[in-house]
Amino acid sequence: MRGRIRTLPTLSEQGSERGRDLPFAATHYWLSLADEDYRYCRRDTQGVPLDPILAQALPSPAERKIAPIEMKDPLHEQEHGQFPRMIHQYSSRILLRTTGDCPVFCRYCFRRSLLPGDKGFMDEAAQENARLYLASHPEIREVLVSGGDPLSASNEKLESLFSRLRAGRKEVQLRLCTRAPVTLPVRIDAGLVDLLARYKPLHMVIHVNHPREITPLFRERIGWILAAGIPVRSQTVLLRGINDKVDTLVELFSTLAQAGIDPYYLFQGDLAQGTAHFRIPLSRGLLLYDALRQRLSGIEMPRFAVDAPDGGGKLYLPESVLRLEEGFWVLRTPDGKLHSYPEEPEELDQGRIR
Ligand code: SF4
Repeated sequence: MRGRIRTLPTLSEQGSERGRDLPFAATHYWLSLADEDYRYCRRDTQGVPLDPILAQALPSPAERKIAPIEMKDPLHEQEHGQFPRMIHQYSSRILLRTTGDCPVFCRYCFRRSLLPGDKGFMDEAAQENARLYLASHPEIREVLVSGGDPLSASNEKLESLFSRLRAGRKEVQLRLCTRAPVTLPVRIDAGLVDLLARYKPLHMVIHVNHPREITPLFRERIGWILAAGIPVRSQTVLLRGINDKVDTLVELFSTLAQAGIDPYYLFQGDLAQGTAHFRIPLSRGLLLYDALRQRLSGIEMPRFAVDAPDGGGKLYLPESVLRLEEGFWVLRTPDGKLHSYPEEPEELDQGRIR
C-alpha cells in the first residue's frame, strides 16, 4: 500500500482537481498486468486507455462528463445509514464501509463519490455502534465488511472489528468484500489467513473483471484462503471495452471456477457519476448473458443483476425485465414494485468495442 503510485504525468489525469473526486492510486503489481506502460499508453477518442487493466485504474477526461441520470450515491445507501459507515438496507444484513481506501481505485466504482469522505478505518466508536446494533437486531444474519477495500487496513484493525462483531453476535456470517486478491495479492499472507480462519463463519467475495487478473500469484493466495476452509465467491462488473465480449467472460468465469471460486454475480453498471463510458446498453448485456448460458456450465455461470437506480435493491436479469419504454427499461422487484434503468445510447457504445 505504501509503495502505490499516486501521481500521473499530467495534472488533468489526476481526477481530483476539486479535491473530492476519486483520487488515483495503483499498485505496481496491478500496473504490471497491463500490456503497455501506463505513462505512455494508447487511449481511445474519449481518452480512456485501450488496455483493459489500465482502463480500470487510470483517470480519463470522460469521467468529467456527468449524465443527468447519474448520481453521487446510485444505490441510495446513505438513506439507509444507521450510523456513519453502517448501512442497514436489507433486513437480514448490514454493510460496513470500513474504509475509503483501496490498493487501486477503480474508475467505475459506484461508491466513487463516497470514498474520499471515508477517511481512515472505522474508529472504535463506530465499531462499538456496530456491535451494539448487531446485539439488538437478531434479524441480522450477515455483515458485509466492505469499503473501499477492507484489506487496505492492517490485520490489527481488522481483528479489532471482527472481535467486536463476534462479541455482538457469535453466529453472524461475515462477508469480506475485497479486490485485494487481484490488486495486491501479497496482502493475502499467512497472518491474514490465520486471522480470517479464527472468525468463521466467514466467506470472501472478491471483485474480478478480466482474465488477466487471474495470475499464478492470485491462484496461490486464493488457494491458501480455500485451504483454510473459507469459501470464495466472485463478482464482476460488465465494463465497456474491458470485458464486454463473450469470449472474455467465458474465459473469466471458467478460469475462476477452475481455481475453486464460485462465480456469483455479473453486474450491469451502476449510474455513478462520470461512469457512462464504462456502461454498455442493457440490451447488449442481456444478449451477452444469453450467449454465456450457451457456453458455460452451471457451476461457471454467475447471476446477472442490476442495482435499481432509485434504491430498489438488487434485481435479477433477465427475470426482472418487463419492457423497454421510451429509452428506459421497466424492471419489477419480486414484491411487484416498478423501477427504471436507462438504455445507454448506442452512439456511446461505438468505438470502445474491440
Ligand atoms: S476496490 Fe472496490 S471499493 Fe475500491 S475503488 Fe474498486 S470497486 Fe470501489
